[in-house]
Parts: sequence; structure tokens; C-alpha cells
Amino acid sequence: MSVLDLARPEIRAMQPYSSARMEASGGKVFLNANESPWASNGDDLGCNRYPDPQPAALIDALAALYGVQREQLLVGRGSDEAIDLLVRAFCRAGEDAILIQPPTFGMYAVCAHIQNAAVIEVALAADFTLDVDAVLAAVTPAVKLVFICSPNNPTGQTVPRAAVERLVQALAGRAVLVVDEAYVEFAEAGSVADLIGQYDNLAILRTLSKAWALAGARVGTLLAHADVIALLRRIMPPYPLPLPCVAAALAALSAPSVAAEHIAVIDEQRGVMRAALAQVAGVREVLPSQANFLAVRFDDAGAVYQRLLAAGIVVRDVRRYPNLADALRITIGTPAENARVLAILQGGAA
Ligand SMILES: *Cc1c(COP(=O)(O)O)cnc(C)c1O
Repeated sequence: MSVLDLARPEIRAMQPYSSARMEASGGKVFLNANESPWASNGDDLGCNRYPDPQPAALIDALAALYGVQREQLLVGRGSDEAIDLLVRAFCRAGEDAILIQPPTFGMYAVCAHIQNAAVIEVALAADFTLDVDAVLAAVTPAVKLVFICSPNNPTGQTVPRAAVERLVQALAGRAVLVVDEAYVEFAEAGSVADLIGQYDNLAILRTLSKAWALAGARVGTLLAHADVIALLRRIMPPYPLPLPCVAAALAALSAPSVAAEHIAVIDEQRGVMRAALAQVAGVREVLPSQANFLAVRFDDAGAVYQRLLAAGIVVRDVRRYPNLADALRITIGTPAENARVLAILQGGAA
């Protein structure tokens, strides 16, 4: 069986939109897309023309970066868009389901709700590790997508590679395993992207938003079997990637040492902050993290949030998440920003 047998039949059957940009081949004078023949004031990128739906230079750079074939990769507006496309392609409204492990990233459930797909929850263990057996036991025939987040947002733990392999093998022919690696550049254990060639029911989300410092450019990538990528290309918006965003991505990717230096600083600062925070009065626990943030438990998280806010520092209140009712998520900033957080927290009992 093909992984496409898991997808919505009407998506497989539909005639995709064919944009003018896709149909154009050759030619020098473009009178096919109702564009302006003049560039606008200040535009030196040629934004009067619609962009390439999947720009070759960016696809090449990302395929090289992530170690996959070009046809195993889809680029869109952040990995958020890929999550949405996966849910739309695989989950029939009112019939199918996704499976997630709270506390985790909120967009999986949001996209499922938009599509009217059910959300099956299997809570992470008390130490926020993933229970593979519990996940597999909860997979019903309705479950088409199993999302795991590694390192997990908002807790910071990674899912071991062996667990990923057990899951993807057990789910073969039943569901697609989606591994969200938004923070993997900060983790000691690397990506599982090298497994893409082995399993047609494995999909991996990567992004330039975090380690590559391009949250504002909205460039995210889905890695998956070429059949899955081809299916999602049928339903993606016609021109997801604005030219200035592609230019920003190519500029960043052409200087990988800059990103690497910043990742090294974040990883070092994460250790510094974790040790220092553990000594602060009112801190109950600093969860171990492999990402660019720390989840921290406080005696009074609400008061700490307000104290930081009064000093102009905004952290993420994650108290609404299961098992995190006393926690804040603090992003690792510059060394100076981190020192400010510490100074404020050390200024008095929380
Ligand atoms: C930030 C984040 C994303 C979103 O990434 P974009 O590429 O900016 O859409 C995806 N997954 C997780 C777990 C995140 O924390």
C-alpha cells in the first residue's frame, strides 16, 4: 500500500490550480499574469512579478541543508503552513483524527479544529518523556497523523531516535508520523531527517524561524516522501513565498557560520541560565531543555510574570498547559538580556 491511501480521496482526485507562473516556460515578455510591467518604487527584487511557487535556488539550498532530495521537500509560510496542509490533506472533516501529546505546541490542535478533525490526546509522562506504548495504544483507525515535537515546545525535551523509529514502523500503513523539529538545531541529538528515505509515512517539520533568525520571513519546510510532497503541492496556495522572504532566506543560508555562532551562544547561555535560575528563591524547578528556552516552575509564577513585565520583560505564561500550572517559559536571549532576567529574579523572593 502507498502512504497516499491514507490521504483524503477527494484531494488525490482534484484538479489543482494551475497558476500563470507555473504554466510559463521560456519567453522574455510576460503578458500572461496581469502583472504590472514596471517595478514599484524602491523595489529592486522584481516584485511586480509573481514569485516562483517553489523557488529553485531556495529548494536547492534547503535540500542541501537538510540532506534530502529536492522532491522530498516543500517550502511554505513557516512550518505552521505545513501543519495545516498535512491536516487538510489527510483528515476528512468530521471523520478522521490527529494524535498529540500535551503539553505541546498548540497549532496541531488548532489546525485539526479548523478542519473539524478530532484531536486524541496522550499526555506526556510526568517527566515529559514520550510513552511510545501509550501512543500506539491510542491510535484508532481514524487517526491519520501522529504529531511529535522534538525538542518539545514548551517543555524542551527531545524524543529519542529509537522511539521515533519504533513509532514510524508501528504506524506504517495506518498513519503518518509528523516530527516537528523546529528547535532541533539547539539539541545535542540531531535531526531524524536521514530517515525520510526509509519510511514513506514519516514527515519532518523544519523552520528558519528559530535558529536561523528569520521568524519574520516565514519560511518553513516539510520533509517527506516525494508522493506526500507532490500531494501537498496540489493544495498549497499558489504563491506562498514572497520574493523579499526568499531573498532573506538565501542570504541567511549563504552564511551558515553566523547562525552556528548564535546557536552556540544560546546553548551556552541555556546552561548558564538553568544553573543560575535553580539557585533563585521561589524557583521550584528548571526543566532540562534542548531548545532555546527553559520551562521554569515557580512558587508563584503569576507574581514572577508580573514582576518581569513591570521591568519590561515579557516571558510566556504556560500555566494553562497540563502539568505546567506553576510554570513560565523563558526564551534564551542575548547574554545581556539573560543577565537582566536573573537580576530581576534575584532582586527578591518570588
Ligand atoms: C515556533 C514553532 C513552530 C512554527 O514555526 P514557523 O516555521 O515559524 O511556522 C513550529 N513548531 C513548533 C514546535 C514551534 O515552537
